[in-house]
Amino acid sequence: MTDNADLAALIRTIPDFPKPGILFRDITTLLLDPHGLAATVDRLVALHDGPFDLVAGIEARGFIFGAAVAQKLGAGLVLLRKRGKLPGATIAVDYALEYGEDRIEMHADALAPGCRVLLVDDLIATGGTALAAIRLLRKAGAEVAGAAFVIDLPDIGGARLIAGAGVPVGALVAFEGH
Ligand code: AMP
Repeated sequence: MTDNADLAALIRTIPDFPKPGILFRDITTLLLDPHGLAATVDRLVALHDGPFDLVAGIEARGFIFGAAVAQKLGAGLVLLRKRGKLPGATIAVDYALEYGEDRIEMHADALAPGCRVLLVDDLIATGGTALAAIRLLRKAGAEVAGAAFVIDLPDIGGARLIAGAGVPVGALVAFEGH
């Protein structure tokens, strides 16, 4: 990881959101800063060697960074959405949450088999969301050739999980703890 202390300083931490005990890493303060936003996008692009055909953004904050990264890479953008949001025919992957289950969906015709995809989200914690996204993209026939996050919480271990699934992982900022 390069020294992205300038970006880390722009990320606000809000304790006990959305529930007690969670330290919420709030990137809205990073988005408000013109240098911070531009530098984040440039450095996300620099994490992996392309070429990539598509960027896959995870709802919702992954859409913000994913769209900007895709534009810089000259790639398209595929949206990985929560249940029931996409209008066309979808494929889906269900995954376990701490309590209960969730589902991630994409349009069934969004990508050509064999295309190289870069996965983008704001933060990786347990890696459950990103792993479900990788399973979904692979189900559609994609080669997930990289995953890029603004924030990693390395003590939780999600990035190791993704690397173990065979996807090169990069992140700009690491915060200790949870
Ligand atoms: P996980 O599936 O545990 O890796 O969680 C990743 C997803 O949950 C990402 O889309 C994040 O936006 C969100 N998330 C998880 N933990 C946090 C946190 N501490 N602060 C902000 N967002 C989080």
